[in-house]
Amino acid sequence: MITVKSAAEVALMARAAAIVVEALREARRLILPGNNTAAVDRAIKKTIEDAGGRPAFLGYMGFPASSCISLNAEVVHGIPSPERVIKEGDLVSMDVGVELEGYYGDAAFTVAVGDDAPALLACGRRCLSEAIARCRAGNRLGDVSNAIEKTARDAGFDVIREYVGHGIGTKMHEEPQVPNFGPPGRGPRLVPGIALALEPMVVNGDWRTTVSGDKWTVVTRDGGPSAHFEHTVIITDDEPRVLTRGWEEFA
Ligand code: MG
Repeated sequence: MITVKSAAEVALMARAAAIVVEALREARRLILPGNNTAAVDRAIKKTIEDAGGRPAFLGYMGFPASSCISLNAEVVHGIPSPERVIKEGDLVSMDVGVELEGYYGDAAFTVAVGDDAPALLACGRRCLSEAIARCRAGNRLGDVSNAIEKTARDAGFDVIREYVGHGIGTKMHEEPQVPNFGPPGRGPRLVPGIALALEPMVVNGDWRTTVSGDKWTVVTRDGGPSAHFEHTVIITDDEPRVLTRGWEEFA
């Protein structure tokens, strides 16, 4: 069942989302050649806890860290580790979720380490902004999904099929699932108070994935690079409200 959030609930989600953005800001500062991803994760955990939140990923289905940090052909769910050292030229995807007083926020971005930002990153951001633009009362969920797929394909890229965005609120993952592909004009109708974590995952190459030996990290089968961008968004009577707005300025 898709739940509709009250104004009070949205206010709590906004507080959780603000902590997500602060944690991502701290992470971005540390995405430098020579730093390892466990150090980035520690800084994220500290930022979240200092703000009174709880890292939502930590312990989720046994996940061992406070963030997912996925490099290059890794799509999502990369596990931070001291052995995983960031190098010049890497694509680094950062995904952070926070729970505060029973409400959740969730956001992600991908950056290139070094000067050479591939077109894939600009495309992923555009997929997200096009999806947000479709988050209007009266539209169907398929309109959002289709905007992501069309934007990616028009740029010569593709989208991951096996992992999707989701509803969010009192749980990190609520209904509905939000695929990054599919026909417009289908699916549930959007009404004010629906909260969605939109998360286009775009690839330069084939969309098929596999899960690596650590049982978590999702990688492209063909080794092609992947980028992931996510916002927590509320449907309103008017413009969509992006609760995790802010990372665009520093990512
Ligand atoms: Mg998410």
